[in-house]
Amino acid sequence: MIYLDNAATSFPKPPRVIEEVTRCMRSYCGNPGRGSHRLAMECAERIYQCREEAARFLGVPDPTRVIFTMNTTMSLNIAIKGLLRQGDHVLISDLEHNAVHRPIYKLAREGRITYDVFPSGVNDPFFTPAALCVRIARMIHPNTRMLIMTHTSNVCSFAFPLEEIGALCQRKGILFVVDAAQSAGHLPIDLQKMKIDALCLPGHKGLLGPQGSGILALREGIEAETLLEGGSGFHSLDPDMPPDAPERYEAGTLSTPAIVGLLEGIREIQRRGIDSIQGHVCALNTRLCEHLSSIPGVTLYAPHCIGSVLLFNIEGIGADRVGELLDQRGFCLRTGFHCAALAHKTLVTKEDGAVRVSPGIYNTSAQIDSLAEAIFTIQSKK
Ligand code: PMP
Repeated sequence: MIYLDNAATSFPKPPRVIEEVTRCMRSYCGNPGRGSHRLAMECAERIYQCREEAARFLGVPDPTRVIFTMNTTMSLNIAIKGLLRQGDHVLISDLEHNAVHRPIYKLAREGRITYDVFPSGVNDPFFTPAALCVRIARMIHPNTRMLIMTHTSNVCSFAFPLEEIGALCQRKGILFVVDAAQSAGHLPIDLQKMKIDALCLPGHKGLLGPQGSGILALREGIEAETLLEGGSGFHSLDPDMPPDAPERYEAGTLSTPAIVGLLEGIREIQRRGIDSIQGHVCALNTRLCEHLSSIPGVTLYAPHCIGSVLLFNIEGIGADRVGELLDQRGFCLRTGFHCAALAHKTLVTKEDGAVRVSPGIYNTSAQIDSLAEAIFTIQSKK
């Protein structure tokens, strides 16, 4: 089996992540912050360590602004539904995942907000951050309150210039919400430097943590309405949620095993170095790109944005069928629309989407060569 679906979730996880999750489940998994006995305290301490590590890693000055969630989707829902108000206008990019598009679409359908989709410029060979900022600025209305965008797309490796767009949002007084589902662990992210108001990301993809771990980092001074209310272990006599992050947004028992695993995932990235991780996956995708460019009938989408994902199709054969044939040969890749209809429309893929390859830290050049060989065989036998 050769796993090449790290954009969906990273696999396998580093041994230290697995060991810590197991150790937690075996020896200290009390309920964090619920009670003052030793297990509750130990869990709370380890969770705080993860907040501190994540805050350092993401350029968040105060660890209490790091909120643990289940996944990126939950972080985005808190930011979107908790910060938007009746009558607001929102801008989103044409590369957004459904985790952004669906909550925004629902609020718009209910008549609570309006929104527009701005062109990323992914298909424009003359793309420049300055031209993108001009395009975005032209779409800002007096009631535009929020701009939401993915850092890097999950179907091609286009990366938005966050620093420039963050500065634009700050100048215009617009909330800047970033979906870093694909970039966390691959590209440097700095909440403060990039002027991000709400940063949403998973623990289970590039940060190498377990599923059930996600992060919402809220800039100091940004307070959202809560999405969930319930026990927090604090202010138990008050019928309201606690006023301050992180407890305000963390109703119910946190997933301690996932969070202690995430802490080890972040440490693993720091040991390896983010540049070396990105260099490794980019080199694998560049190699695959070179192989696939020489196979007739293979279309590569946005190959000029080489990064951690590569999207392709084979002429005359459906994307799902290619996925099935590759699965029979032992390759795990994702086909279809990757929960990103907007992005597929922008890239003009086929009626059943496309095939996505997303290598991770454990993949090798030899595996990429055998994938290219398998694609060549499928193409020549069709
Ligand atoms: N945004 C992007 C860009 C993604 O790639 C994904 C995962 N495919 C998500 C959001 C949702 O992530 P999660 O599954 O952690 O909610």
